[in-house]
Amino acid sequence: MKVLVLNSGSSSVKFQFYDTSLEAIKGGSEKQLAKGIVEKIGEKTSIRKIECNGKPPYKKEDPIADHTQAIRTIIDMLSDSEYGIIKDKTEIDAVGHRVVHGGETFTHSCLIDEKVYDKIKECIPLAPLHNPHNIKGYEISRDLLGKTPHVAVFDTAFHQTMAPSAFIYALPYDYYEKKRIRRYGFHGTSHRFVARRVGRLFNLAKDAFNVITAHLGNGASIAAVAKGKVVDTSMGFTPLEGLVMGTRCGDIDPAILMYLQENDGVNVAGLNKVLNKQSGLIGISGISNDMRELEKAAAENNARAKLAIDIFCYRIRKYIGAYAVAMGGVDFIVFTAGIGENSHIIRGEASKGLEAIGAKVDEAKNKSLNGKEGVFSTEDSKVKLCVIPTNEEILIAHDTVEAVSGLL
Ligand code: AMP
Repeated sequence: MKVLVLNSGSSSVKFQFYDTSLEAIKGGSEKQLAKGIVEKIGEKTSIRKIECNGKPPYKKEDPIADHTQAIRTIIDMLSDSEYGIIKDKTEIDAVGHRVVHGGETFTHSCLIDEKVYDKIKECIPLAPLHNPHNIKGYEISRDLLGKTPHVAVFDTAFHQTMAPSAFIYALPYDYYEKKRIRRYGFHGTSHRFVARRVGRLFNLAKDAFNVITAHLGNGASIAAVAKGKVVDTSMGFTPLEGLVMGTRCGDIDPAILMYLQENDGVNVAGLNKVLNKQSGLIGISGISNDMRELEKAAAENNARAKLAIDIFCYRIRKYIGAYAVAMGGVDFIVFTAGIGENSHIIRGEASKGLEAIGAKVDEAKNKSLNGKEGVFSTEDSKVKLCVIPTNEEILIAHDTVEAVSGLL
């Protein structure tokens, strides 16, 4: 079955195209046929890129007015006789859509029908910056592809197993019941992918181990997954809570917001900008939100770059300790995403002190693992420290095949 995976954002649509089936999923033999992006949609020079299996990559810069034209462009690129991979759009058997917010309604991925479509729309107020673009991606591809089935895969769904003690904030209870304010958690597809991969790598049933998954990219979150179910996760009502991120602050005392409003006259838009865009690594360092640049500056003894790295890693360690206890013990700690997969420096720093919970780093193994899957704890470490490259798109393709086959 050929599955198109679409990640439709505000100014870009990313895509991957897979040849997969239920048997291929079991055996891990699915094939990525193509990947690409249409970005800077609506700007003077938009960019379209595609790379198909065995063909030279293609890139063009010209205006692409809107998402409709962007998705049409993706289908045209996939069908191009020179650099494409299919004859025409009838070869697309199903489409999997990344949808950021599924609220409390969606605990699993599901086929999109009229009812599901309406329920996804009801989640717009919870993710006003993301869900409308995800929905747009669905509407346009549905109109372009006729009877092809579509599946929604939610960033929040994996976290829906949390208990009320983990997801309810200590606010008036009405805020949860009437305003839907609670911890939802995000990056769920990535946490699910790496947790599942641990089971496959170590030949364990998913209910046979506890794992802490640290998704450390420009956005960062951490999850405690006990016996296949999320017990807690660091992102909350929005992706702002939890770990220090590239430009987001993560956990802070909420009274700081009142203080800034009262004393500095900062309004809601201003607070939003500070907390989401000007904080985190860039805010502390004043240099960059890019960890590579901070590591370079720290190596040159830049004090604020060092501080940003220290705070970033300290917060991760603190969460790992808390989650190990929340789960009553941990067997694996996994690092993933841009920083987690590629930076032995951050993995090493974030793992300092974890001997207290039985995790011992083998520094040589840690250094050898950048960009690669593997274990970097010592032979006698009770808890295994791992690097597992994430692959949210392949999980979206898997869910799509399973949903289309009537299995979900
Ligand atoms: P992501 O959001 O998953 O694409 O991750 C982006 C983050 O990964 C950025 O902060 C990058 O600086 C960081 N990153 C990528 N490669 C490396 C590397 N080799 N060393 C340190 N950080 C890296």
